[in-house]
Amino acid sequence: AKDQGRNNYRFYAPTMNMRGIERLELENGLRYAVERNELVVYYQPRVNIVTGQIMGMEALVRWEHPQLGLVSPGQFIPLAEETGLIVPIGEWVMQTACRQNKAWQEAGYPPMHVAVNLSARQFQRPGLVERVREVLAESNLEPQYLELEITESITMHDVDFTIATLRELSNMGVLISIDDFGTGYSSLTYLKHFPINTLKIDQSFVREITIDPYNAAIVTTVIYLAQNLKLKVIAEGVETEEQLSYLRDHECDEMQGYLFSRPVPADEFEKLLKARQ
Ligand code: C2E
Ligand code: CA
Ligand code: CA
Ligand code: CA
Repeated sequence: AKDQGRNNYRFYAPTMNMRGIERLELENGLRYAVERNELVVYYQPRVNIVTGQIMGMEALVRWEHPQLGLVSPGQFIPLAEETGLIVPIGEWVMQTACRQNKAWQEAGYPPMHVAVNLSARQFQRPGLVERVREVLAESNLEPQYLELEITESITMHDVDFTIATLRELSNMGVLISIDDFGTGYSSLTYLKHFPINTLKIDQSFVREITIDPYNAAIVTTVIYLAQNLKLKVIAEGVETEEQLSYLRDHECDEMQGYLFSRPVPADEFEKLLKARQ
């Protein structure tokens, strides 16, 4: 029986098994990550493309796992979405980011926007508008300093519900931006119906603007589109001076990327604010 057991053990595909265990552990861990205070919000500055002035920040979640170390959102956000854990996690991020932004305002730094990512799952859940209202009331942050980043994927679902929800948020004074613009199911008609303030050009287009004329054409067209619709336009993933000068020449408003700063913890972000005063 012992031998058989050993043989049976060998029979399993070890890598598949490992993945299953890892996933399960990750899922269990994620369930408690919020209460155990293992989640951290990093902030990446958004800067004016001409002056380099910090105009705002994007809140990006990280998981400080006790064994695995710093886990990137790319590794756990999809899992959080599948399991529905994205709802409490997303609310925690929004609350933390709003409180932090208010704390910086109270410390005397110039008021800035904080952008928070909303997953489609969070968006579709009833009660989102109420939660946003509560978070703003609780943190005492004025609504115009909160920006919610949505992706084109939310428009895939119930369009009437999407429009109604966005209008409620917009009427509250919260700003709305479309993240990863151009990568999703682009229908230009929703730009007309949705109360949007900002377009964020996806980094996949930005990455190759100086080497691929096709990408360059997309980027300049999106900037032009945004200008004509009176929307603010932000380029994501700017890593080189060449990309920056291209975007500046084509009158993009703001940029976000490693060239200026990676996402950093709150205390490091504050150092950036101090250095810029
Ligand atoms: P995203 O919203 O498109 O965020 C931008 C991502 O690009 C971030 O990755 C950021 O660190 C990275 N990035 C910024 N500048 C550069 C650059 O110059 N070069 C390169 N190569 N990358 C750059 P991160 O923080 O790993 O987040 C990945 C994705 O996870 C985010 O993409 C977003 O979709 C999701 N995410 C992060 N935090 C949250 C959250 O609190 N809630 C939800 N629902 N999703 C989140
Ligand atoms: Ca984003
Ligand atoms: Ca993005
Ligand atoms: Ca993205």
